Amino acid sequence: MTPGRGKLADVGTTIFTVVSRRARELGALNLGQGFPDYDIDPRLAELVGQAMRAGHNQYAPMEGLMELREGIARKLALSYGLTFDPHGEITVTLGATEAIYCAIQAFAGPGDEVIAFDPAYDSYEPAVRLAGARCIRLPLTLPRFRYDWERVRAAINARTRLILFNSPHNPACTTATAGDLAELAAAIRGRDILVLSDEVYEHMVFDGRMHASVLAQPELRERSLAVFSFGKTLHATGLRVGYCVAPARLSAELRKVHQFNTFSIANPLQWAIAWYLAERPEVGRDLPGFFQAKRDRLRARLAGCGFSLPPAQGTFFQLLDFSELCPPGDAAFAERTLTEAKVATIPLSPFYAEPPELSVVRLCIAKRDETLDRAAEQLAEFARRLGRA
Ligand code: GLN
Repeated sequence: MTPGRGKLADVGTTIFTVVSRRARELGALNLGQGFPDYDIDPRLAELVGQAMRAGHNQYAPMEGLMELREGIARKLALSYGLTFDPHGEITVTLGATEAIYCAIQAFAGPGDEVIAFDPAYDSYEPAVRLAGARCIRLPLTLPRFRYDWERVRAAINARTRLILFNSPHNPACTTATAGDLAELAAAIRGRDILVLSDEVYEHMVFDGRMHASVLAQPELRERSLAVFSFGKTLHATGLRVGYCVAPARLSAELRKVHQFNTFSIANPLQWAIAWYLAERPEVGRDLPGFFQAKRDRLRARLAGCGFSLPPAQGTFFQLLDFSELCPPGDAAFAERTLTEAKVATIPLSPFYAEPPELSVVRLCIAKRDETLDRAAEQLAEFARRLGRA
């Protein structure tokens, strides 16, 4: 036995961190890690300064600032026409990642199973393992990343505690349908199973779609923890302010972990976001159009170059399919886009327990138009070289 062997000794650094670091070293355009490269609304920056000058610099309440939780409740009412109690049902967290981590620690333990769908966001399984539980990874069916509900029902047993759901889906760029939510509700009906729903891309749904939140499905709302992110909605991933919406009895358990994990979230940021929401209650409304235009711009500039572009229903990503130009192997291909096209992309294999043969990589569309145009040009030129080879 090696002394000091960590519980995650077999886990490396996240693909996002690795790719961003290499993109910086190589001077490549970074369409890898999902973050905007354009400015935030200057009003938000002003409000952060204002909050600090007003003296909001000490610990915020553990559950989150009441003014912010009220703002979140108003925002949920506007988005989904639903009423939530800001006292008991809304908790402010350090980004969505902390909410996911705390929910898993609160509800899963040794002997328990947690179901996740591959490709699954990279933080899910480590959080399950740290809780001492087992993560059961069920693949979404290729090429369109659909749920196999038959398989989900077969995987559910008396040990299943949680199902990790994610819509809009990172990295598949798909959105769940009302039918999927009905299947999910039916699969857990009458069992002691909760749903942890990662909905950080709630406002990035395209082509007239509506985001299907578990909160809007009455049966699921009773047994779900839904997780959201101001980093995504306010174009500022560095804020690390997110929130979890769940029935009071579930929120109470989540808060018991949160209070010993981060305790409370940056107070001046919470004040600034609360004021910002009060000034702009419609925040998020323009995001589908904004990101759809980015998606369409990138798609138009890559059209006909030899790569194909699977449909992107939501999130701030677009998949790039290279099967016509290169043998399968997404990690090798991502390495080539980085070094040869000078465009950083994210392979999908790190999102799998057992990666299949993959011929797609993920591109982030939350970038300035010039960045998207240059990246498309460099990728198209790379495609031409591949075509000639
Ligand atoms: N959510 C971001 C993405 O999918 C990554 C965040 C991170 O690097 N942890 O690109």
